[in-house]
Amino acid sequence: MNILVLPGDDIGPEITAAALAVLQRIDSIYGLGLKLETRDVGMPSYRRTGTTLPDSIVDEARAADAVVLGPCGMTEYPAREKGGVNVPGTIRKQLDLYANIRPARSRHGIPNALPRLDCLIVRENTEGFYSDRNMFLGSGEFMPTEDVALSVRKITAHASRRIAQVAFDYAMRRRKHVTAVGKRHVLQLSDGIFITQATAVAKAFADVSWREMDIDAMAADLYTRPERHDVILITNMFGDVLSNLAVAMSGSLGLAAALNAGERHAVANAGHGSAPDIAGKDIANPSGLILSTAMLLDWLGNRHARTELTQAGRAIEAAVDAVLGNAAQRTADLGGKCGTRAFGAAVVAQLDKSAQRLAQPA
Ligand code: ATP
Repeated sequence: MNILVLPGDDIGPEITAAALAVLQRIDSIYGLGLKLETRDVGMPSYRRTGTTLPDSIVDEARAADAVVLGPCGMTEYPAREKGGVNVPGTIRKQLDLYANIRPARSRHGIPNALPRLDCLIVRENTEGFYSDRNMFLGSGEFMPTEDVALSVRKITAHASRRIAQVAFDYAMRRRKHVTAVGKRHVLQLSDGIFITQATAVAKAFADVSWREMDIDAMAADLYTRPERHDVILITNMFGDVLSNLAVAMSGSLGLAAALNAGERHAVANAGHGSAPDIAGKDIANPSGLILSTAMLLDWLGNRHARTELTQAGRAIEAAVDAVLGNAAQRTADLGGKCGTRAFGAAVVAQLDKSAQRLAQPA
C-alpha cells in the first residue's frame, strides 16, 4: 500500500509527524505493508518550487493508494497566478473526492463534551456554494458590476445521489439512521433535488430509517437531542458549518477527524484548519489527523477487502480514546498540558500495550 504524506502548513508538520509515528507503529503491529512517502506542499513547496502544489504531486496522489494531508494555511498563499494553489481544494477536485466524512463523538471525561453525541456527517464535497470547484470553467462567484457580487449554488441530481448512497452505506455500518439536511421551503429547487435523490436512494435501504430536517432546526436539535442523529447527509456549505459545530460540541476542534473519499481515492485530512496562532509550539492536538488516518485505513480495508486494515483503523481509534481518557495526556485545547509529540508517543505506547495484551495467552 503506497501512502503519500503531505504535511501542509503551520501546525501541519507537527500533527503529521505524530500521525506518521502512529501509522508506522500500526503498520509494524499488523504487518500492513504500508509504504509512506512524504512530500512538501503549501508554503514549504512554494519557497522551493514557486508553487504550493506542483503538478507532479497531484500525479503522485493519483498513483498512490491513499493520501494523508495535513492542514494548509491558504490565507498566507500568494495569488493563484503567482503559484498559490488551493492544495486541498485542487486535490479534492482532481481526485473526485466527492464525499467528506466527518465524525463527531463525545468521549467520557472530555471537558465540555455534549453527552450522547455520536454522529457522522456525510457532506457533499464538489458543488454547492464552493465557487472554486462548482463550475467546469470559470468561477461560481462573479461581479456583474462594481457593487454587485453573485454566488451561484449548484446542486445536481448526480452528485446528490452518489453522496446519499455513501450516507446510507455508512448508516448500515452504524445505528441505521440518516438525517437529510437542507432548507427546502426556501431553496425549493436545489434542495428539492437533494432531498428527492435521498428519497430515491433510501428505497434501497429498508433497514435504514431516515428523516429530513431544515438546517436551522438541525443545528438546535443536534445540541438538544443529539441521540436522535446518527448519519447526517448534508450539502457542502451547510455541512462545513454543522460539522465544525458538532466536533466543537464533542470537546474541541482539535478532535476533528475527516476523510475525503471518492470511488478510487481517499485522503485523510483533519477537519480543522492550519491553526497559525499555535503553530510551532508543540501544543496542537494531533487527534484529528490521527483519527483521520484510522478512517483512511478503514476505507482501504473496505475497498481492498483486507480486514487487517479495518482492524488497524479500529485499534488506532481505541488507542486515541484510551489516551484521551487520561486527563494528564490531554493537549491544551482539552484543558491538559500534554504536547503534540508527547500525545503521539502516548498513542504509540497505547498501541504497544494493546498489542501485548492480545499476544498474551488467555
Ligand atoms: P482555516 O481558515 O484554515 O480553517 P482558521 O484559523 O479559521 O483556519 P482553524 O485553523 O481550524 O481555523 O482554527 C480555529 C481555532 O481552533 C484556532 O484558535 C486554533 O488554534 C484552534 N485549533 C484548530 N485546530 C487545532 C488543533 N489541532 N489543536 C488545538 N487547537 C486547534
